[in-house]
Amino acid sequence: MIITKQKPIDDILKCLEKVSSVYIVGCTQCATVCKTGGEEEVKKMKEFLESKGKKVIAAEVWDTPCNLLEVKKRARDRKADLEGSGSLLLMSCGDGAHTVVIGTGMPVVPANDTLFLGQSERAGRFNEVCALCGDCTLFITGGYCPNALCPKGLQNGPCGGAKDGKCEVSPDIDCGWLLIYNRLKDTGKLDNMKNLLPPKDHSRAIRPRKIIVDAVKNRK
Ligand code: SF4
Ligand code: SF4
Repeated sequence: MIITKQKPIDDILKCLEKVSSVYIVGCTQCATVCKTGGEEEVKKMKEFLESKGKKVIAAEVWDTPCNLLEVKKRARDRKADLEGSGSLLLMSCGDGAHTVVIGTGMPVVPANDTLFLGQSERAGRFNEVCALCGDCTLFITGGYCPNALCPKGLQNGPCGGAKDGKCEVSPDIDCGWLLIYNRLKDTGKLDNMKNLLPPKDHSRAIRPRKIIVDAVKNRK
């Protein structure tokens, strides 16, 4: 899930200071779960902007604003309202905001900051457990990711600076490598600690990345 956090409301207002009419768009998926772009948040944003003298042309929650085909269809269906607004306010992740720029051709202001790919632990609590490196080595590290859990991204064991199980970079977090060690120990795979990983192949994460999936081939 893409984890987002709403920008400070004054920052959003500043981005909209030269705009008199706004078309608000939320997202039924990740932003709804993060409470940054669901029905309730979109309604509150509409009320807030109207209290600040903005004309809200529409306040909608779109299904997957990160889907270009869906957005283009919406853009056709809602052409008049979109063209009548000074800007869209996107209450989604950055992926959704960019896709709406491309799909509608309209100016877009993002209402949210996009933070990380997150595991949903429970309602309103999200953890970063994968850093999207494109070169997954969880089979060696017991399912715990050193790129996400160790601030230094160390690939082959701890730095030695941990104190009482906490990371030397931030005492608020557990040492990622201690978590990996304990997991390997608990599952009888401690020998994996001797398996030296090669340096991370950063060429696999050069941005922007693109992937084309052959749907027919994948069905075989
Ligand atoms: S190694 Fe870590 S960052 Fe890379 S893909 Fe696997 S879980 Fe994600
Ligand atoms: S203390 Fe542990 S988590 Fe922190 S930087 Fe060192 S190895 Fe990584």
